Amino acid sequence: MSYSDATVAAATEFGPQVRRVMLEKQSEIRIQVPQISALKLRVLHGKVEIFGSELPRNTWLTFPPLQQFAVFTWYGATFEIDGVTETDTISDETPMISYLNVHNSLQVQRHRVTSSTRDYDSSQGPRVIIVGDTDSGKSTLAKMLLSWAAKDGCKPTFVDLNIGQSSITIPGTIAATSVEMPVDPVEGLPLHKALVHYFGHNTATNNVRLYKYLVEELARELEEEFAINAESRRSGMVIDTMGWTSGLGYQLLLHAIRTFNASLVIVLGQETELVYDLNKAFKFKKNVQILNLERSSGVFSRFSDFRKMLRNISIQRYFSGATNNLTAYTKTAKFTDMQVYRIGALLEKSRSTEPLRITPVLIDKDLVNTVLAISYAKQPHHIISSIVAGFVYITDVDLGEERITYLSPSAAELPSKIFIMGTLTWHKT
Ligand code: ADP
Ligand code: MG
Repeated sequence: MSYSDATVAAATEFGPQVRRVMLEKQSEIRIQVPQISALKLRVLHGKVEIFGSELPRNTWLTFPPLQQFAVFTWYGATFEIDGVTETDTISDETPMISYLNVHNSLQVQRHRVTSSTRDYDSSQGPRVIIVGDTDSGKSTLAKMLLSWAAKDGCKPTFVDLNIGQSSITIPGTIAATSVEMPVDPVEGLPLHKALVHYFGHNTATNNVRLYKYLVEELARELEEEFAINAESRRSGMVIDTMGWTSGLGYQLLLHAIRTFNASLVIVLGQETELVYDLNKAFKFKKNVQILNLERSSGVFSRFSDFRKMLRNISIQRYFSGATNNLTAYTKTAKFTDMQVYRIGALLEKSRSTEPLRITPVLIDKDLVNTVLAISYAKQPHHIISSIVAGFVYITDVDLGEERITYLSPSAAELPSKIFIMGTLTWHKT
């Protein structure tokens, strides 16, 4: 069986909305949740995974509007779906075996590391970087490799360099987090222990120097963490990247591969030129392997408007939770309680050798609808090298009263007075 309509081929009707789906071994159902309603799913028999994370049996899980995912089974399974889908297709043509083979070989490397911890270099686990076009399934493969590793008892570090669509927190960020449990298919990756830097834009061209600087800063912080944490060091990293692979985008990929000392570069999809260029670039580097893997035909292609909507949803989820399960707090602050800064000029020259400038931003109505990062920096000149505590969304600026109204994910006092502004805005619905 290849593609078929799940409702016709594999489902039995159970009342108006709940239907039963049976999946053959090594097949998946690819689902897009509609914009207007959530979808529920419950496993009855067998084992199923969503992007490497096994679902609990007999528990209804709720997937929010617009979520796109595949429910995959290695040995066959039956489950129920409650609600309407935008699309649902079953396929047994998946690259899952090749993805699992990668995981198995990474596990071999991780185990080899444990038994040879004599010198620092040989106690490093594999560092995988996933590259390819937009919508080639990079973030999805990253989740699978992380979840499978966590299921096998490892604690890999996920590094997210994609400022367009971030998997850890809101867009415009360069972040990393240790993954100790399979990735929650609804909630996503854990945020509480993440190291987050705020780039502030959803395209790297806005400030290439800052982008590279933050990538290097994050790599430095992770090296420090690995120096004292043998388990994280041996589990290695999975690095997700932007879907920009030509010209300057390619240069940024090379920069990331070198900065993080990647040992395996996975190129997803038919990317003959990219594979050729990478092989050439690392011809004399025996410790960098380039591997080209097939893109799954299940990956949804997302148009630029859809991507924009996803960015908005991602910010919404930061404040309200994936299933509207969190409370956002409306608060006010005096002008004197907030110092807002921009990093670099609006159009920063990438070849400039001047240090990146930190400029104070005048508090006025232009701040309304912007998302600001709360920096842990104690002094403005530490902003670039400091991680951020979280984000606020400015809803009003009262020039007369000199007060700012903002939305915060926490009821607690702001942890800092120093804020970073980029070009990221949010159109709250
Ligand atoms: P990229 O990171 O390369 O841009 P993603 O991994 O984010 O691509 O995949 C694009 C979209 O397709 C995501 O919404 C993802 O959940 C979805 N997707 C990926 N693989 C599958 C699959 N096999 N079946 C259904 N949806 C999928
Ligand atoms: Mg992605």
